[in-house]
Amino acid sequence: MIKSNYLIIGTGIAGLSLALKASANGSVALVTKRRIFDSSTGKAQGGICCVMDKSDSFESHVQDTLVSGAGLCDSKMVEKMVLEAPNRIKELINLGVKFTRKTNFSSEFDLGLEGGHTKRRILHANDMTGKEIEEVLIKNVKKNSNITVYEECMAIDLILDDNNVCRGAYVFNNKTKSLVIFEATIIVMATGGAGKVYLYTSNPDIATGDGIAMAYRAGANIANMEFVQFHPTCLYNVDAKSFLISEAVRGEGAILKLKNGQQFMEKYDTKKELASRDIVVRAIDTEMKKNGDDCVYLDIRARGRDFIVSRFPNIYSKCLDYGIDIVNNMIPVVPSAHFFCGGIAIDENGRTSVKNLYAIGEAACSGIHGANRLASNSLLEGVVYADRAYKDSLQFTNQKLSSFKLKFLKNVEKNNQSNHPEFMEKWNEIRNLTWNYVGIVRSNRKLLEAREKVKILKKEINDYYDNVLLNVDIIELRNIVCVAEMIIRSALLRKESRGLHFNTDYPFMLSKAKNTIINVISKGE
Ligand SMILES: Cc1cc2nc3c(=O)[nH]c(=O)nc-3n(C[C@H](O)[C@H](O)[C@H](O)COP(=O)(O)OP(=O)(O)OC[C@H]3O[C@@H](n4cnc5c(N)ncnc54)[C@H](O)[C@@H]3O)c2cc1C
Repeated sequence: MIKSNYLIIGTGIAGLSLALKASANGSVALVTKRRIFDSSTGKAQGGICCVMDKSDSFESHVQDTLVSGAGLCDSKMVEKMVLEAPNRIKELINLGVKFTRKTNFSSEFDLGLEGGHTKRRILHANDMTGKEIEEVLIKNVKKNSNITVYEECMAIDLILDDNNVCRGAYVFNNKTKSLVIFEATIIVMATGGAGKVYLYTSNPDIATGDGIAMAYRAGANIANMEFVQFHPTCLYNVDAKSFLISEAVRGEGAILKLKNGQQFMEKYDTKKELASRDIVVRAIDTEMKKNGDDCVYLDIRARGRDFIVSRFPNIYSKCLDYGIDIVNNMIPVVPSAHFFCGGIAIDENGRTSVKNLYAIGEAACSGIHGANRLASNSLLEGVVYADRAYKDSLQFTNQKLSSFKLKFLKNVEKNNQSNHPEFMEKWNEIRNLTWNYVGIVRSNRKLLEAREKVKILKKEINDYYDNVLLNVDIIELRNIVCVAEMIIRSALLRKESRGLHFNTDYPFMLSKAKNTIINVISKGE
């Protein structure tokens, strides 16, 4: 058993940022299922929002976020996040993050523009912002003697005492293939999103929604899981695994076209390529279906070689690796699952409905994103909620907790039954199911069919899980089927179309916006 003041699960921007702060207040066990840098954070290209320019204003950033969120944002929380952004950005800079400046010697930052923003307010490190932030945070964590990092350690389930207070987590150590119990006064879920639940995704392999599934099983409220953001432009190439063509490329003038070179966005929105993501995604989906095409194209050629290579060095060289010279050719793109606006329901300080359990970052549903996230608000949400959770936790770190008995212990050492590699085909079944039945455009018939299919899959997977030697694949499989079920449940509960959720049977938006809250015991759909 490993004991600490804080147990933080996940090493993306949210988990690392909180660990650095919490270390001033006690010992931190930082658990991560692969290597420390494996995260969505490290993949983020576009940047992080903050009002920096004189022509911009806090009101305008708030307004853009609320418009994108289609009436479902928690406006108070949006305001707080936007106002706190400058301090959080200053902290990142003080830790060593280098955002791109206008020129090498300029004191002014080069601010990017992305879909849904009315002003340039995206701080970036060329087109590798997430990598820059992640590397700097990791460097600082490694220097900190109050933080112990446990790599290749995958949280399986939360531990609750008899009063349903969260006391720690069961963790599978993939190096030693053994179970480790982590106990702490404060437990934080910073496990990121769940893009891997879908067939096509921009997310890295770690994004299997583990934290959301764990919290659900522990009885936490889960909010707004129907709002899955599809990114409009993932590179369409069989060899490219989930490579994203950043929104910033459209921000810098790239045009969406059909294979014959015809533009189409003006038919769908006056903001054309810079309309919010849900509008652009549905436009692409409609055009692909109408024309029977496998993809559409993004054309940045008009900006010329010098600009393209210096502003988007990563995208330029990655595409070149796949034989696409974006200076001279259009880029084939398709939409893919990108971001979960929903997740573990939290309050303004990151507290969940389970005592002692916090959730921050993409795993959480804070109310910031409403029905559709505004581009580049999620890295910001990660640092803002890390700070809020840290400050809130200070009142609890010295609390006296009674001794407790472990409720169950999954025996990993004893092999009950050997694994059947063919069972892992269920991965593809689930990912195809979500893509086809609860994807960009939904209908009641498809959702009801999906509910029946997922019920059967979940039972098969849980039976298998109970009788097989634990490994990372089966733990993730159990989580993705759980997340798929939550998305379907939530989508069925929403009797309207709003933001990212579009149901052809309810093509209208209700006048009153309501969050969808589910938990493991709640009835309904
Ligand atoms: C390609 C791409 C580009 C993006 N671009 C931008 C952008 O420009 N701007 C922006 O604001 N947002 C962007 N996003 C979204 C943003 O990157 C994420 O929302 C954000 O980084 C999430 O941070 P996080 O700390 O919550 O989670 P992550 O960074 O995903 O970290 C989650 C961590 O939890 C660990 N973990 C998961 N499950 C377990 C488990 N069971 N046990 C132990 N550890 C576990 C993972 O290994 C990982 O370390 C992008 C996302 C992608 C995929």
